[in-house]
Amino acid sequence: MAITNNKPSLAKRLDRIQPSPSIAANALVTELKEQGRDIINFTLGEPDLDTPAHILQAAKDAMCSGDTHYTPSLGTTALRQAIVEKLTRDNRLNYDVSEIVVGSGGKHVIYHAFAATLNVGDEVIVPTPYWVSYPDIALLNDATPIFVETSFATGFKLLPEQLEEAITPNTKWLVLNTPNNPSGAVYSSSELSALADILRRHPHVWVLSDEIYEHFVYAPAKHVSPLNVAPDLRDRTLILNGVSKGYAMTGWRIGFGAGPRRLIAAIGKLISQTTTCPSSISQAAAVAAFSGDQSPIDHMRRIYQERRDFVHSRLSAIEGLSCEMPDGAFYIYLDVSDLLGRVTPDQHVLKNDADVVAYFLESAGVAMVSGRAYGQSPFIRMSFASSETMLERGCLAIKKACQSLRF
Ligand code: PLP
Repeated sequence: MAITNNKPSLAKRLDRIQPSPSIAANALVTELKEQGRDIINFTLGEPDLDTPAHILQAAKDAMCSGDTHYTPSLGTTALRQAIVEKLTRDNRLNYDVSEIVVGSGGKHVIYHAFAATLNVGDEVIVPTPYWVSYPDIALLNDATPIFVETSFATGFKLLPEQLEEAITPNTKWLVLNTPNNPSGAVYSSSELSALADILRRHPHVWVLSDEIYEHFVYAPAKHVSPLNVAPDLRDRTLILNGVSKGYAMTGWRIGFGAGPRRLIAAIGKLISQTTTCPSSISQAAAVAAFSGDQSPIDHMRRIYQERRDFVHSRLSAIEGLSCEMPDGAFYIYLDVSDLLGRVTPDQHVLKNDADVVAYFLESAGVAMVSGRAYGQSPFIRMSFASSETMLERGCLAIKKACQSLRF
C-alpha cells in the first residue's frame, strides 16, 4: 500500500477567522503571570463580581433534585417562561414561550441564528467599533461582513444615512448592539427610530439587537430596545440577551434569543444537532436569576458607575489620551491617536494602537486590547470590571508610561 506524507487536513473556513482577540489577550496575561510577571489585567469582558448567592443555591437544588438530564433543545419551559416574564418586566416587550430560544451563551445563539439564515453572498452590516465575534461568525457562515465606521464625533453611533448607504439586495442582517462593547455607546429612542425608518424601506433585512449589557446603563442614559420604538419590526428582529453580564454568570453559559417563531424554530433545529440543549443545571440557575431578587443588579450598576467615573477622570487627565464618558457597559474606548509617532524609552516608535498596547504591557504591566480587534483604530479598550485598587494602580502606571514617551 502506498504511504503518502499527506496529513489529515483542517477545514478551509478556519482560515477566514482569528481566535477571539479578547480571549487571546487574556491568555497572554495568564501566560505572563505564570512567568511571574505582575500584570494588571484590563482585558476582561466579564464582571469581576461573583454570581449572587440565591442563584448558586438554585443550581445546587437542581443538581440535588435530579435536574441533571437533557432538556428540550429550545430550553426548559420554566426558563423560557421566566424569560417571557423578564422581557415584559424589564423591556416592556410581549413574547410567547414559543418565541424564545435558550442557548449555551449569547454567542452560541448568534452563531446559530447566522447559521440558520446566511447563504454564500449574503452581507451582514456591522457598525464599527464592534464586539469581536460578529464578523467572524458571519464569515464562518459564508457571509461577508460589511463594516460601517462610526465616529468619536457621533458618539460611535450608526447614522441613518450610513445605514441607507450600506444596505444592498444582499444584506441579510443589521447588527445593533446597545449598550455597545467596546465603545459604551447607548442608542436613544430617537436614534433608534431614525434607523427603524430606514429599515422599513428594506423588508429583506433581519435585525440582531444585542442587548446583553442592558443592565449597565448609567443615568441619564436609558436602555431602549429597537422594538420599543419600532414594534412593527418584531417579525424580523432577534433580541439577544443572557445572564453572563447582568447576573455575573459568564461561566454558566446561558444566553437567549427572542424572535419570530420560524427563526426560533430554525435555531432550535440546529441546536438539536449541535449541543442538544444548554446545561440543565445552568438553566435552573438562570430561572432564579431572571425570576428572583433583582437587587444585585442595582448593586453592580452602582459599583460600575463609580469605577467608570473614577477611570474616566484619571485617564482623561493624561496628556496623549482622550476618551468619551461611556453611557453603558463596562469599557472605556481610549483614543490614542496623539500617542502615535512618540518614542518609547527603548527607542521604538509607536506606529499603531497594537504598538501602544504592547508598550503599556511591557513598560507599565497593564494589559488592554487594541482597537484594531474591534475594527476601529487607533483606540484601546480598557475594561473597568476590576477592583478599585487595580484601577488606581493601572491608571497610575498608564500615566507614568505616557510621561516616559518622547516626541
Ligand atoms: N454580545 C456582546 C456585545 C458581548 O460583549 C458578549 C460577550 O462578551 C456577548 C454578546 C456574548 O456573551 P455570552 O456568550 O457570554 O452570553
